[in-house]
Amino acid sequence: MSKVLIIGAGGVGRVVAAKAANNPEVFSEIMLASRTVSKCETIAKEVGQGRIQTAQVNADNVPEVVELIQKFQPELVINVALPYQDLPIMDACLETGVNYLDTANYEPKDEAKFEYKWQWAYQDRFKEKGIMAVLGCGFDPGVTSIYTAYAAKHHFDEIHTLDIVDCNAGDHGKAFATNFNPEINIREITQKGKYWENGKWVETEPQEIKKVLNYPNIGPRDSYLIYHEELESLVKNFPTLKRARFWMTFGQEYLTHLRVIQNIGMARIDPVKYKGVDVVPLEFLKYVLPDPGKLGENYKGETSIGCRISGVKDGKVKTYYIWNNASHEIAYKETGTQAVSYTTGVPAMLGAMMVLTGKWKGEGVFNVEEFDPDPFMEKIGDFGLPWNEKFDIDLEL
Ligand code: NDP
Repeated sequence: MSKVLIIGAGGVGRVVAAKAANNPEVFSEIMLASRTVSKCETIAKEVGQGRIQTAQVNADNVPEVVELIQKFQPELVINVALPYQDLPIMDACLETGVNYLDTANYEPKDEAKFEYKWQWAYQDRFKEKGIMAVLGCGFDPGVTSIYTAYAAKHHFDEIHTLDIVDCNAGDHGKAFATNFNPEINIREITQKGKYWENGKWVETEPQEIKKVLNYPNIGPRDSYLIYHEELESLVKNFPTLKRARFWMTFGQEYLTHLRVIQNIGMARIDPVKYKGVDVVPLEFLKYVLPDPGKLGENYKGETSIGCRISGVKDGKVKTYYIWNNASHEIAYKETGTQAVSYTTGVPAMLGAMMVLTGKWKGEGVFNVEEFDPDPFMEKIGDFGLPWNEKFDIDLEL
């Protein structure tokens, strides 16, 4: 029986709140707080089953978060606001001695850099305080990292190559929309690609490397090599990896819109003066694009995200594929949002459950692949994200 504070009331916050409300045996009291309190109230009303309290908080402001934590006294703070809020929320957790969990690594506002260095720097302070920070507990990072840990634990003596393959074959009927926060999503996709090979990072131009990959129940899709944050912690935690890459599918229509957005300067993250006011074009763009949390109603089709791994077991070369397919329509029916928010929110809730029930224990800052994957893997299917596996397959990579 534990109290939990969820910060962030977007698509992901909605799923975490709905799933936590559904599991009162672990989440005995739930507070959902965000910058715009009316969004928390809507979520509480629609999926809270009368079990969610709400509050307004600006999570960029450490004293405000500290005050809220002191008032509510949670055991864990689940941060599903934006990556910019990671450090202030971690500071507030340190000050109050409360555990922390998030789904995306910290990014400074003025630099699109996906690196763990800022959060890993909290290691000693979290340890000294006797609390834990769980980093990257969504789907990717999150479940993909746990799939890798599970494969390494049960199926390989050494893993040598890892390809994380992320396909969204859904159709929301809009000309252009992002599936999670547009600002964060566009920052991620417009940066250079990067992958790990033979002990060093290799950089590519954005979308320079493309392969057609086949996804279960979906078929062939154009897949582009992009950099994704979990690669950094996975190559550190699985040093036998000779190569680690991340692939994401994009349709031509999406890439054309993205190119135009960049060419006309709307992806800029530096401020421009508009009528005497500083405006960051990408921040403004977020307000005219569709809200990812509201795409669910007409969203059809599935996502398919997994890990394709090769390595050795008992001296023999072996290949392995583990994945989940999630349906936008089923996610919407259950939580009122689409599968990208769903596949992020469910693991965040389950990671929180792992911490609150003592299945994941520790003092300091951890990426999810550092924990025992088994208790998480045992439960994730029951909460809506069942996994499939195949051995000795053509990795296509
Ligand atoms: P949204 O933009 O839909 O929601 C973000 C929420 O955070 C909004 O409610 C917003 O409030 C709130 N917020 C923003 N700034 C502050 C602040 N200063 N103080 C308090 N609240 C704030 O994003 P998503 O729900 O799509 O994504 C949430 C997180 O999940 C992001 O960090 C994203 O990167 C991550 N993510 C991780 C994935 C994974 O697989 N690991 C996949 C997808 C997303 P307001 O409504 O006022 O703007």
